[in-house]
Amino acid sequence: MNLIVFNRRDMTIPLSANFSTKEFLCSCGVCSPHRLDPDLIKRLQRVRDALNMSITVTSGFRCAKRQAQLRKGGLQTAAGTSTHEMGAAADITCSDMDALLVACEKEFKSIGVANTFLHVDTRVDKVRRWKYV
Ligand SMILES: [Zn+2]
Ligand SMILES: [Zn+2]
Repeated sequence: MNLIVFNRRDMTIPLSANFSTKEFLCSCGVCSPHRLDPDLIKRLQRVRDALNMSITVTSGFRCAKRQAQLRKGGLQTAAGTSTHEMGAAADITCSDMDALLVACEKEFKSIGVANTFLHVDTRVDKVRRWKYV
């Protein structure tokens, strides 16, 4: 599948009914362009539709440099090969985290659970569930 590619200056290109490029920008603040797996957006939108509540993306695309910084900082979510670097992952929050998890389980096979967010990515080769402590 072709990745969605966009530049940092293209801040508000709609990706779906409720998500736009702005929410997926790498937090390093400088890198460009960004890549996103269209399948990620499709699934996120289906979760959004099922929930009927707004979802906040706390981390979307990450460049290799940002990923290395996070890993160096000991951030557990930055361990190993990152699906964020491939544009295939999002960390998301919602006012009802339990409902968010239930909705995500219908759309994603790969889910990491933290107290304050869920990591979801588009890997489908097997079911993955883990917890951030
Ligand atoms: Zn970056
Ligand atoms: Zn993540």
